[in-house]
Amino acid sequence: MILPSLLSDAHGRIMRDLRVSLTDRCNFRCLYCLPETEEAAGFYRTKFDSIRNPNPQKLRLPDWKPRSEILSFEEIERIVRLSAALGIQKIRLTGGEPLLRQGTEVLVAKIAQIPGISDLAMTSNGFLFGKKGAALKAAGLQRISFSMDSLDRKNFKKMTGRDGLVEVLASITLAQELGLNPVKVNAVVIRGINDHELESLAEFAQNQNLSFRFIEFMPLDSSRAWLKDMVVPGKEILERLQTRFSLKAIQSPNSAETARRWAFPDGRGEIGIIAPVTEPFCGHCNRLRLTADGKIRTCLFSIQEHDLKSLLRGGASDPEIAELLRSIVWQKEAGHRIGKPDFVQPTRTMSCIGG
Ligand code: SAM
Ligand code: SF4
Repeated sequence: MILPSLLSDAHGRIMRDLRVSLTDRCNFRCLYCLPETEEAAGFYRTKFDSIRNPNPQKLRLPDWKPRSEILSFEEIERIVRLSAALGIQKIRLTGGEPLLRQGTEVLVAKIAQIPGISDLAMTSNGFLFGKKGAALKAAGLQRISFSMDSLDRKNFKKMTGRDGLVEVLASITLAQELGLNPVKVNAVVIRGINDHELESLAEFAQNQNLSFRFIEFMPLDSSRAWLKDMVVPGKEILERLQTRFSLKAIQSPNSAETARRWAFPDGRGEIGIIAPVTEPFCGHCNRLRLTADGKIRTCLFSIQEHDLKSLLRGGASDPEIAELLRSIVWQKEAGHRIGKPDFVQPTRTMSCIGG
């Protein structure tokens, strides 16, 4: 039976996972998210001479939100506390780059104390983790996911706009030493850009005993360069890896798991394939997102956002905010519409939404 106090939607799903974006800013410029140069934004041109982007956009970085519009740690803590009372169990801090926010560990310590939050994780590009990792762990961070799309220094720089591979590799090792296990590493796979590295990334996962996630490229980039032809379907990724490694399927106990998981024969490390474009998992999605400027998004691809900040700053009581959250969640869309004729790419990019 669905209890009325939980965050349930009109399609029978109950929200358990809240992704909190701490900032819309980033120190990287990944070409699939926030490309910095015309060349990076038009990366498909060099590899796909035959492909014409039907939606060419003038390169424009997002208008960064002024500090006053970004939620304070106290405001975030209040929303997490209220969400936990409504059944949210898992918090993932993200961005933009969450470690650009001063004192992230202070927020981690506050959230770690909130009753009902059993899982506290972060997604980071890893560049600043070397300086902050120990403090985050001490504050109560339980898990971390890093983004690393290439093991080749030149290709890493091409994909992220920064020469940061050495730092990210060191962060992965540090996170393991700190016991933030299983440490996850995400790679967005783009045809013609890094798909030739699938096997070496998988081998790295096995050697380093990592949980490695291959993610399909989604239409959430600021330059709108996304084209279906650049997506390497999850099925193709799996077939390639199966040819090289004898992977065994892992049955996940978590029904809201987005990744299809595979183990290596020696039990070291694992592969996950996240295929939101070709194999949507909307039917069991239990996620909500809170943007850095205080908007609730019920889907990565939502066209509509719901303003929570005005209520928070307008003196609303806890029951009033809880009621708004419940009514927002009730309207959660059944699923995304990528590939459908009426698909509209959201105005905000992944870095502003909070991936
Ligand atoms: N800056 C942090 C990082 O990169 O890990 C956290 C924010 S980032 C937006 C969160 C995740 O979204 C990263 O794993 C990144 O690779 C992924 N991402 C960004 N743009 C994407 C896109 N267009 N398609 C698929 N994944 C994307
Ligand atoms: Fe920054 Fe993460 Fe987007 Fe890369 S994916 S530009 S690291 S927010």
